[in-house]
Amino acid sequence: MKKINTDVIIVGAGPVGLFAVFQLGQLGLKSCLVDSLEDLGGQCSALYPEKPIYDIPAFKEIKADMLIKNLKEQIKPFKPQILLNQSVDKINESNNSFKITTSKNNEITAKCIFIAAGNGVFGPNKPPLKDIERFENTSVFYNIKKKSIFYDKNVAIAGGGDSAVDWAIELSEITRKIFFIHRREKLRAIPKNVEKLYDLQKKKKIEMVIPFQLDSIHGNNGMIDKLIVRDLNNNTKEINTDYFLPFFGLSTNLGPIKDWELQLEKNILTVDQETCLTSRDKIFAIGDICTYPGKLKLILTGFSEAAIASHNCYKKVYPDKPLHFEYSTTKGIKKI
Ligand code: FAD
Repeated sequence: MKKINTDVIIVGAGPVGLFAVFQLGQLGLKSCLVDSLEDLGGQCSALYPEKPIYDIPAFKEIKADMLIKNLKEQIKPFKPQILLNQSVDKINESNNSFKITTSKNNEITAKCIFIAAGNGVFGPNKPPLKDIERFENTSVFYNIKKKSIFYDKNVAIAGGGDSAVDWAIELSEITRKIFFIHRREKLRAIPKNVEKLYDLQKKKKIEMVIPFQLDSIHGNNGMIDKLIVRDLNNNTKEINTDYFLPFFGLSTNLGPIKDWELQLEKNILTVDQETCLTSRDKIFAIGDICTYPGKLKLILTGFSEAAIASHNCYKKVYPDKPLHFEYSTTKGIKKI
């Protein structure tokens, strides 16, 4: 069991939690990051590491895993404590500080808390297929870490939203064939991409298997060889495939944070936009987990919230020490 004493506990090490380490560090505040995943980077690392992002200021294009690599470099001077593979559990407030216990029984004491928990402790919604776990991470994947394994292979993709459609389009460049399975005629993804999908069908790169429901999965030693799907009239169809990628969204679970007596709106924390403070003093929320009128769930918005929350946090940690605003060009990188 570790006992850590710091200025700020950051719950969630996605892009926003990572950038918060930098912003806090520049104000001389130490931080400890806690994440339930085994790697840093939140959605960027877990869901789309190889996808290019186009709306990070000053980067014409940057792959999600490169963005996280750069953020890790940027926070190095501030030497944050990092606790991975554990989620935050109990919270106690006394003597002007918080004590948080993690699921691995580590204890962190801090003056303020930043909740940068994205969609909460997340995991994929899995299709209700018997024995699917026998194939998980060998031939069934809920997110894609390495595109190259699909080169010249048959790949079945199921889902009707943006992730399913985006990946079908992107992987069709390298796969032998994509089978696109959805239980309804209508897809929820953005119309422009749905059009692209049907264009690729005409070019025989994608076969649309619509409207079909998943029925069963078959194969040996973790490797799938076929999926059986069923239409509304109970007719079945066999799909011979090397890989299966179900994209049914994420199940999100705020977990114990729900019991921290914070104001929530549809499982998201409401904050005061001016400070990013939640309904509880000294607990801030930033990134996808927070909302206010006009909120945009984007990485760049989260970066700005990390800066706003850090400046307001300083005032809570040092109420008697005025904060003189300085540009980074003036102060350089603060030594901690
Ligand atoms: P997250 O990245 O969700 O990280 C939150 C972290 O908190 C996670 O690692 C989670 O494990 C951890 N956590 C949660 N609860 C706990 C707990 N109780 N204890 C410990 N750890 C916890 N945004 C853009 O700006 N541009 C894009 O082009 C773009 N493309 C996208 C494409 C896809 C396919 C997806 C899925 C998202 C995309 N986004 C994009 C959205 C972007 O990824 C999110 O806005 C961003 O990741 C939010 O960052 P965050 O740090 O707030 O949360």
